[in-house]
Amino acid sequence: MQDNSINNEELKEIILNNEEKKEYNSSKFADLENIVKWFIQRQDSENTLKTITLWAINLWASDIHYDHRVEDIIVRFRIDWVLVDIFALEKKYYKLLLEKIKHSSNLKLNITNIPQDWKHSVDLWDKKIDVRVSTLPTPYWENAVCRLLDAKKAIIDFDELWFFWTTKRMLEKAISKKNWLILVTWPTGSGKTTTLYTILSKLNSRDRKIITLEDPIEYELPWVIQSEVNEKNWYNFSMWLKALLRQDPDIIMMWEIRDAENLDIATQASLTWHLVLSTLHTKSAWDTLDRIINMWLKPYILASALDTIIAQRLVRKICENCKVETKKSKEETQIIKHMMKEIWMNSLPADNIKLFTWLWCEKCNNSWYKWRIWIYEILSLNDEIRELIRSGASAQEIISTWRKLDMITMKEDGILKSLKWFTTIQEVLKII
Ligand SMILES: [Zn+2]
Repeated sequence: MQDNSINNEELKEIILNNEEKKEYNSSKFADLENIVKWFIQRQDSENTLKTITLWAINLWASDIHYDHRVEDIIVRFRIDWVLVDIFALEKKYYKLLLEKIKHSSNLKLNITNIPQDWKHSVDLWDKKIDVRVSTLPTPYWENAVCRLLDAKKAIIDFDELWFFWTTKRMLEKAISKKNWLILVTWPTGSGKTTTLYTILSKLNSRDRKIITLEDPIEYELPWVIQSEVNEKNWYNFSMWLKALLRQDPDIIMMWEIRDAENLDIATQASLTWHLVLSTLHTKSAWDTLDRIINMWLKPYILASALDTIIAQRLVRKICENCKVETKKSKEETQIIKHMMKEIWMNSLPADNIKLFTWLWCEKCNNSWYKWRIWIYEILSLNDEIRELIRSGASAQEIISTWRKLDMITMKEDGILKSLKWFTTIQEVLKII
């Protein structure tokens, strides 16, 4: 493989095809199965549920799935956004457990033919945890999924959001302003809850009033006034937003801009001296600009209201416990050179970049990965870009100018983070 003899798509394929697939596995899964079966065979559904929930938290799972198969139920945990089979449970025992899950989350036991969902607290001996339970009828019985809402993992320190110092400074500058609109864009599962709540916790001070409009409220923030959209009684999302503005807030966090009307209210709020944080369901900064310009907002309003777009994705973080440095093969050196070229670092010697491999360990459930980190692209509007927007430039022209300002794209941020071995290049390429 020679430099320049291969294009990026081919390189991506080579890297992904050479990836050694590792299944999550641990002796802890078998231990959990034994304890659960001991409790459930004694009809103790309460301790069964507590045990599964506690172990899921200790294994850093975000969700517990009880999924039907023809013969049995498979209990699976979502760990680092990967669904992992933990153990199988006989259907007769699941029936008992499902009744306990429904009972403790205030779902109606006699209703089995329509979906239900509710949030409740599970008392785990020494701590309480909020769980959002949802059930779905299937031809066999009801499926159940429990989302674990562990506030300690959702609100982290601002420094733990994995910004490089340039992007971190850019964002700190943006949120220190009194008004403007900041958008976090998010494909599903990109960790926007953590980013938004962490920014809010950084903004929290006694002299400022923060109000949120959420759907639904997932974590309680004691220092914030939270409201949940309730679209009954003819009160739609936009009307809630307007009511919220009459509460004289300094900072507003609205969960999602759903349509032109929501965006209009959000921009008006930012133009009338509020700092507004919100989210859009888009893939990148370019995608966000393109949608806003083409569909919704007049350029002069956009230029005056929008300050920052944070596009983000989550990738798995490598396990620090079992990584060891290794020698590079010729091919790996070439791959590293290509990655460096992509981020304009090709003048530096590739020998400076280390290469690691893993021994696998119990801490990462033998998967090489433990927890996740974010990769970002941040578009911060300066005078030059505002002028371009006002002049009616397309999203493409704006992004080209933005690129000349040495801003880094999500892919480049990902490559940098993989060259530093916070994650792997495979993780980055899979989602870009
Ligand atoms: Zn490990």
